[in-house]
Amino acid sequence: MGVQIGVLGGGQLGRMLALAGYPLGLRCRFFDPLAEAPAGQLAELVVGDYADEGALARFADGLSLLTYEFENVPVSAVAWLAQRLPVYPPPVALEVAQDRVAEKTFFQGLGIPTPLFYPVLTCSDLQDGLERTGWPALLKTRRLGYDGKGQKLLRSPADLEAAWAALGGQPLILEAFMPFERELSILAVRSLGGQVAFYPLVENHHAGGILRKSRAPAMPARLQHEAERIATRVLEKLDYVGVLAIELFEVEGTLWANEMAPRVHNSGHWTIEGAETSQFENHLRAVLGLPLGSTAPRGQAAMLNLIGLRPDFARVLEIPGAHLHWYGKEVRPGRKVGHVTLRADTPQELEARLVRLEALLAEVTG
Ligand code: AMP
Repeated sequence: MGVQIGVLGGGQLGRMLALAGYPLGLRCRFFDPLAEAPAGQLAELVVGDYADEGALARFADGLSLLTYEFENVPVSAVAWLAQRLPVYPPPVALEVAQDRVAEKTFFQGLGIPTPLFYPVLTCSDLQDGLERTGWPALLKTRRLGYDGKGQKLLRSPADLEAAWAALGGQPLILEAFMPFERELSILAVRSLGGQVAFYPLVENHHAGGILRKSRAPAMPARLQHEAERIATRVLEKLDYVGVLAIELFEVEGTLWANEMAPRVHNSGHWTIEGAETSQFENHLRAVLGLPLGSTAPRGQAAMLNLIGLRPDFARVLEIPGAHLHWYGKEVRPGRKVGHVTLRADTPQELEARLVRLEALLAEVTG
């Protein structure tokens, strides 16, 4: 057996990591509490609870190194494994990214602009926080929030009671609402040997807190440089290894960091067909200390998530430049079950293909 990489989490990101590993002769072994985790359809899956040391030991046996595809892995499980195996990205990145207050404090410490925030535990903290942030503001859980889950928009005092009933009783963060023009993300990658590369900035569109659409490359060079400066500070501070995603708000031409993910990211799925080297392959190259591949775009790309719906595959694939990825998950409302990346040579051509795909998806949702 050659190199075997352990991956905590067995979702679609893991599945795409496994797929990127095969041409390089790499095998991934996944750990997930769910037997139906989608990576298990393609690679070895150890099913167990993150607190079960016996299961973790079975998982770790024979692995060359450990990485993760999901950032809400308990830090205790990672720490236990880190005593036995090299772990990349460094567990401290996971710790920072798991807590929105730690994350925003970390950005502030590096001089990276981030929305004004206030930790909230009690109702009176919330009142104090609102005096600083003003209205509207966002109340979010500090931990375990993703895809817009665990957050409430506070437009006026009338929203307070319902928001508190939904979220109160756990550590929260209040954030000033950013009137952004666009949501962007930068994907950076740093290898074990310290080589660094950046993908072009991606423009992202969310609805209901879930990423719907990404487009790249889209940005003027000035914003690209600003995003790379932000990512570089994070990479260096954490002595980071692997792919890192930072979600940004563009407000009046400047970038504000909202959050970071110490892993491959949904807004980087377009790189599979739209860049010279995908984020998944570069993550594997990085953690193995191999030279990184070029992050240059191949023309124009757009990615649409398939959320809670299964379109007619033939009709999707009829669209020129369409690449369908189906994750092998049961379709449920609000669940990401696949994505489609469109590639084109010009922005106009991409736009025409996007209009066609969006119309097709709208038909399925009715
Ligand atoms: P998050 O879970 O922090 O990524 O938030 C999910 C989505 O909510 C983001 O992609 C934004 O569209 C929106 N959002 C989050 N925080 C803010 C903020 N401080 N101001 C405005 N919109 C926000």
